Amino acid sequence: MTDPSEYPNQGYDEWIDAIAAGEGYHLVCPEGHGSLPPRRICPECGAGGLAEEPLPASGEIETYSVTHVASPRFEDDAPYAIAIATFGDVAITGQVRDVSPENVDAGMVVTVDVDESATDDEPVVVFRPR
Ligand SMILES: [Zn+2]
Repeated sequence: MTDPSEYPNQGYDEWIDAIAAGEGYHLVCPEGHGSLPPRRICPECGAGGLAEEPLPASGEIETYSVTHVASPRFEDDAPYAIAIATFGDVAITGQVRDVSPENVDAGMVVTVDVDESATDDEPVVVFRPR
């Protein structure tokens, strides 16, 4: 376990890199509340001293929506499903890949990964059915 305060620049980009490397993590406060970077204090109780802990290997889709007409940032990705999946007690938002949007459903068990947007090659958080 690493103390994030040793890494003052730690933020979303570093988190994306960690997910891409298969080393996804979340932040856990001394009270055990989970959250996602970038954060210095727990959003639930305000405690500092957040520690990094590995994300659970799989999560579950809680809710999703299918986008048929996307913003310019994702226009070549459409149609796609954006889902919120819970991994332990943290909720992550991402694009669902490897399955048609109409087959995405709440309760689907997924793994989290990082892939490129089909539109601009920028990294996006993606979920893949497990
Ligand atoms: Zn807390």
